[in-house]
Amino acid sequence: MRSIDTVLIGGGIAGLSAAARIARHGETVVLERESAAGYHSSGRSATFCHFGIGDGLVHKLTAISKTLFAAPPEGDHPALARRMAAFFIARADEEEQLDRLTETTLAHSPQARRIPGAELRDIVPVLNIGDGGFAAGLFDPDAYKLDSDAMLQANIRALRAAGGVLVTDAPVGAIRREGARWIVDTPGESYAAKRIVNAAGAWADTIAEMASVGTLGLMPLRRTIIAFRPPEGVDVSGWPFTKTVGEGFYMLPEGSGQLLASPMDESASPPCDAQPDEETVALAAWRVEQGTTMPIRRIDHKWSGLRTFAPDHSPVAGYAPDAPGFFWLAGQGGFGLQTSPGMAMAAEALLLELEWPEALVENDVRPEMLRPDRLRITR
Ligand SMILES: Cc1cc2nc3c(=O)[nH]c(=O)nc-3n(C[C@H](O)[C@H](O)[C@H](O)COP(=O)(O)OP(=O)(O)OC[C@H]3O[C@@H](n4cnc5c(N)ncnc54)[C@H](O)[C@@H]3O)c2cc1C
Repeated sequence: MRSIDTVLIGGGIAGLSAAARIARHGETVVLERESAAGYHSSGRSATFCHFGIGDGLVHKLTAISKTLFAAPPEGDHPALARRMAAFFIARADEEEQLDRLTETTLAHSPQARRIPGAELRDIVPVLNIGDGGFAAGLFDPDAYKLDSDAMLQANIRALRAAGGVLVTDAPVGAIRREGARWIVDTPGESYAAKRIVNAAGAWADTIAEMASVGTLGLMPLRRTIIAFRPPEGVDVSGWPFTKTVGEGFYMLPEGSGQLLASPMDESASPPCDAQPDEETVALAAWRVEQGTTMPIRRIDHKWSGLRTFAPDHSPVAGYAPDAPGFFWLAGQGGFGLQTSPGMAMAAEALLLELEWPEALVENDVRPEMLRPDRLRITR
């Protein structure tokens, strides 16, 4: 049995970004079931950072995180992000949604500007405009394409530099309370920790059940992405991340000259190694073909992952009201990468009862917005 201060369950972006900070304050171990960090949601994302997703809290956490994505990396390391514009497009009957999005985006990204229908194709030449097509847009030049691998590796480096450890191939199989400690069993080792951080993504409620802690009603929703080549002669390298404000799709250029696209599906799923189904893959291609002049002749690659939401769709960080030392870090939904620096700051402060960080104060992020006691806990 190894005695430590904090054990984190889950080697995705949530667990690792928090662990990198928490390890500065005491002996910290991250346990990951798979053989590599980021195998589940964190490695299957579209890795984009923008204000066209989530509620006011998500936007504030994104704004805090964005300043870090914009900063050049320290030392000889790959950048965490590169600037890529976000372009939101609306049909004639979706202008109200575009107005609302314009307001929230402008609050955090003052360079954003509306694009009239006739100019949409100056930005993405293949868009269908006019009758039944897109009628207006919002262009935010200050958005970011993230690099999930660089983000995971930067957090693992920071964790190790602070003396922390990531253990892979370490499925947590049992959790129990003994006196003032949590005992966490993996096949290779058991850990006795003062605090346990539940950052298990889609499995966070499963981990709570294992520890006999009340669950939050987390909802894993599957999302699918396809990769395809644009038609001959179409250079997509300068295209923005393009997203319909209503039902539709998003698409973005990927380094290899390919485009990635998603039909923004949200099918309820149990926690699992999510796989795409043929119907959703076909829907992705169909929606892109409907919204653009591009035929999709072949899908080169496809994958799915789970976006796990709390019932109120806001992220969760804070101690369980019904179990001392059991800390929730869950519900990162479809914004877990873009909010991870801000969420990690909040998790560190809440876990260790530190002064509330200035960046969170300045952006009006308060502890009660994140704490699990705002949700109905089921025992
Ligand atoms: C298709 C898709 C597109 C997305 N696009 C974006 C985007 O553009 N921008 C953005 O910010 N976010 C995006 N997201 C969301 C983002 O990927 C997630 O919010 C984020 O990765 C969640 O991180 P996590 O660490 O909570 O979960 P995960 O990365 O899933 O990590 C949880 C880890 O816990 C481990 N675990 C579970 N149970 C146990 C156990 N018993 N023992 C040990 N380990 C365990 C799992 O193996 C897993 O590795 C997208 C997600 C998907 C699926």
